[in-house]
Amino acid sequence: MPRKRGSGQLEEYRRKRDFSRTAEPAGDDASAGQGSALEFVVQKHAARNLHFDLRLELDGVMKSWAVPKGPSLDPGIKRLAMEVEDHPIEYNAFEGTIPEGEYGGGTVMIWDRGSWFADEAGPDEDDQKVMRREHGAGKISVTLQGERLHGSFALVRTDRGPKPKWLLIKHRDGAADRTSDIVAEYDTS
Ligand code: MN
Repeated sequence: MPRKRGSGQLEEYRRKRDFSRTAEPAGDDASAGQGSALEFVVQKHAARNLHFDLRLELDGVMKSWAVPKGPSLDPGIKRLAMEVEDHPIEYNAFEGTIPEGEYGGGTVMIWDRGSWFADEAGPDEDDQKVMRREHGAGKISVTLQGERLHGSFALVRTDRGPKPKWLLIKHRDGAADRTSDIVAEYDTS
Protein backbone atom coordinates (compact mmCIF):
# COMPACT_ATOMS: atom_id res chain seq x y z
CA MET A 1 0.00 0.00 0.00
CA PRO A 2 1.58 3.37 -0.99
CA ARG A 3 2.15 5.59 1.97
CA LYS A 4 1.26 9.25 1.79
CA ARG A 5 3.63 11.98 2.80
CA GLY A 6 2.56 14.10 5.71
CA SER A 7 4.65 17.17 5.01
CA GLY A 8 1.83 19.42 6.17
CA GLN A 9 2.44 18.12 9.68
CA LEU A 10 6.04 19.34 9.72
CA GLU A 11 5.26 23.05 10.03
CA GLU A 12 6.04 23.19 13.74
CA TYR A 13 9.24 21.19 13.23
CA ARG A 14 10.41 23.60 10.54
CA ARG A 15 9.33 26.73 12.40
CA LYS A 16 11.51 25.78 15.37
CA ARG A 17 14.67 25.26 13.33
CA ASP A 18 17.04 27.34 11.22
CA PHE A 19 18.32 24.93 8.58
CA SER A 20 21.20 27.27 7.71
CA ARG A 21 22.52 26.57 11.22
CA THR A 22 21.52 23.01 12.04
CA ALA A 23 22.40 19.89 10.03
CA GLU A 24 19.04 18.33 10.89
CA PRO A 25 16.95 17.37 7.82
CA ALA A 26 14.34 19.83 6.59
CA GLY A 27 12.05 16.95 5.68
CA ASP A 28 11.74 17.53 1.94
CA ASP A 29 13.01 14.14 0.73
CA ALA A 30 9.98 12.66 -1.02
CA SER A 31 11.63 9.22 -1.17
CA ALA A 32 11.85 8.87 2.62
CA GLY A 33 9.63 6.30 4.23
CA GLN A 34 8.88 4.36 1.07
CA GLY A 35 10.25 1.10 2.41
CA SER A 36 7.89 -1.73 3.20
CA ALA A 37 8.38 -1.61 6.98
CA LEU A 38 7.04 1.07 9.29
CA GLU A 39 10.05 2.58 11.03
CA PHE A 40 10.84 3.46 14.60
CA VAL A 41 13.92 5.11 16.06
CA VAL A 42 15.17 5.97 19.53
CA GLN A 43 17.72 8.77 19.66
CA LYS A 44 19.78 9.68 22.71
CA HIS A 45 19.82 13.45 22.86
CA ALA A 46 22.31 15.22 25.08
CA ALA A 47 20.51 18.55 25.06
CA ARG A 48 20.36 20.82 28.13
CA ASN A 49 18.60 17.86 29.74
CA LEU A 50 19.68 14.43 28.53
CA HIS A 51 16.71 12.48 27.20
CA PHE A 52 15.73 9.82 24.70
CA ASP A 53 13.48 10.58 21.73
CA LEU A 54 11.13 7.79 20.67
CA ARG A 55 9.73 8.18 17.16
CA LEU A 56 7.16 6.02 15.38
CA GLU A 57 6.40 6.42 11.67
CA LEU A 58 2.79 7.33 11.00
CA ASP A 59 1.28 8.88 7.86
CA GLY A 60 4.59 10.06 6.42
CA VAL A 61 6.04 11.64 9.56
CA MET A 62 7.58 10.42 12.79
CA LYS A 63 5.29 10.80 15.81
CA SER A 64 7.71 11.81 18.56
CA TRP A 65 8.00 11.59 22.33
CA ALA A 66 10.79 12.87 24.57
CA VAL A 67 11.43 10.27 27.27
CA PRO A 68 13.65 11.78 29.99
CA LYS A 69 14.77 8.46 31.48
CA GLY A 70 14.54 6.38 28.30
CA PRO A 71 12.78 3.05 27.80
CA SER A 72 12.72 0.27 30.39
CA LEU A 73 12.15 -3.44 29.85
CA ASP A 74 10.64 -3.77 33.33
CA PRO A 75 6.81 -3.89 33.10
CA GLY A 76 6.69 -2.44 36.61
CA ILE A 77 8.30 0.82 35.51
CA LYS A 78 6.37 3.67 33.90
CA ARG A 79 8.48 6.17 31.99
CA LEU A 80 7.21 9.69 31.34
CA ALA A 81 7.04 10.40 27.59
CA MET A 82 6.23 13.95 26.52
CA GLU A 83 4.78 14.18 23.03
CA VAL A 84 6.63 16.71 20.88
CA GLU A 85 6.25 17.95 17.31
CA ASP A 86 6.22 15.49 14.40
CA HIS A 87 9.64 14.94 12.83
CA PRO A 88 10.48 14.04 9.21
CA ILE A 89 11.19 10.41 8.41
CA GLU A 90 14.72 11.40 7.32
CA TYR A 91 15.37 12.24 10.98
CA ASN A 92 15.76 8.50 11.62
CA ALA A 93 19.21 8.66 10.02
CA PHE A 94 20.29 11.83 11.82
CA GLU A 95 23.21 11.80 14.21
CA GLY A 96 25.31 14.81 14.99
CA THR A 97 25.61 17.93 17.05
CA ILE A 98 22.99 20.64 16.93
CA PRO A 99 24.83 23.92 17.60
CA GLU A 100 24.46 25.51 21.00
CA GLY A 101 21.80 28.21 20.96
CA GLU A 102 19.75 26.39 18.31
CA TYR A 103 16.57 24.48 19.17
CA GLY A 104 17.57 21.20 20.86
CA GLY A 105 21.26 22.19 20.91
CA GLY A 106 23.45 19.22 21.83
CA THR A 107 24.47 15.83 20.48
CA VAL A 108 22.00 13.38 18.91
CA MET A 109 22.95 9.72 18.57
CA ILE A 110 20.88 6.85 17.18
CA TRP A 111 20.35 4.51 20.12
CA ASP A 112 18.06 2.00 18.42
CA ARG A 113 16.24 1.65 15.13
CA GLY A 114 13.93 -0.87 13.51
CA SER A 115 10.32 -1.48 12.61
CA TRP A 116 7.00 -1.49 14.45
CA PHE A 117 3.70 -3.36 14.31
CA ALA A 118 0.35 -2.45 15.82
CA ASP A 119 -0.52 -5.18 18.32
CA GLU A 120 -4.25 -4.79 17.79
CA ALA A 121 -4.17 -4.91 13.98
CA GLY A 122 -6.13 -7.80 12.54
CA PRO A 123 -4.64 -9.95 9.76
CA ASP A 124 -5.94 -7.70 6.98
CA GLU A 125 -5.89 -4.45 8.91
CA ASP A 126 -3.43 -1.64 8.18
CA ASP A 127 -1.02 -1.04 11.07
CA GLN A 128 -1.11 2.71 10.47
CA LYS A 129 -4.90 2.80 10.59
CA VAL A 130 -4.80 1.11 13.99
CA MET A 131 -2.00 3.41 15.21
CA ARG A 132 -3.89 6.50 14.02
CA ARG A 133 -6.96 5.38 15.99
CA GLU A 134 -4.94 4.49 19.10
CA HIS A 135 -2.93 7.73 18.98
CA GLY A 136 -6.20 9.66 18.88
CA ALA A 137 -7.61 7.63 21.75
CA GLY A 138 -4.45 8.02 23.82
CA LYS A 139 -3.71 4.32 24.22
CA ILE A 140 -1.16 2.70 21.92
CA SER A 141 0.02 -0.92 21.93
CA VAL A 142 3.00 -1.44 19.66
CA THR A 143 5.60 -4.14 19.08
CA LEU A 144 9.11 -2.92 18.33
CA GLN A 145 11.65 -4.94 16.37
CA GLY A 146 14.92 -3.16 16.89
CA GLU A 147 18.47 -4.13 17.73
CA ARG A 148 18.00 -3.44 21.42
CA LEU A 149 14.27 -3.01 21.95
CA HIS A 150 11.98 -5.96 21.28
CA GLY A 151 8.47 -6.91 22.20
CA SER A 152 5.36 -4.98 23.03
CA PHE A 153 5.14 -1.56 24.67
CA ALA A 154 2.20 0.54 25.79
CA LEU A 155 1.97 4.29 25.42
CA VAL A 156 -0.81 5.71 27.57
CA ARG A 157 -1.77 9.39 27.49
CA THR A 158 -2.29 10.84 30.95
CA ASP A 159 -2.59 14.53 30.15
CA ARG A 160 -3.81 16.28 26.99
CA GLY A 161 -3.03 19.98 26.64
CA PRO A 162 -0.55 21.56 24.26
CA LYS A 163 2.26 19.23 25.41
CA PRO A 164 0.51 15.88 25.96
CA LYS A 165 2.05 13.64 28.57
CA TRP A 166 2.15 9.88 28.10
CA LEU A 167 3.60 6.93 29.97
CA LEU A 168 5.80 4.37 28.20
CA ILE A 169 5.41 0.93 29.77
CA LYS A 170 6.79 -2.46 28.72
CA HIS A 171 4.12 -5.12 28.35
CA ARG A 172 4.69 -8.51 29.94
CA ASP A 173 6.11 -10.77 27.25
CA GLY A 174 9.24 -12.70 26.41
CA ALA A 175 11.25 -9.50 25.92
CA ALA A 176 10.36 -8.10 29.34
CA ASP A 177 13.25 -8.04 31.81
CA ARG A 178 13.02 -6.86 35.39
CA THR A 179 16.71 -7.25 36.12
CA SER A 180 18.59 -5.23 33.52
CA ASP A 181 18.71 -1.49 32.89
CA ILE A 182 18.87 -1.32 29.11
CA VAL A 183 19.63 2.41 29.07
CA ALA A 184 22.70 1.87 31.29
CA GLU A 185 23.68 -1.29 29.44
CA TYR A 186 23.87 0.43 26.06
CA ASP A 187 25.28 3.92 26.32
CA THR A 188 26.71 4.15 22.80
CA SER A 189 25.05 4.30 19.37
MN1 MN B 1 15.14 15.60 21.73
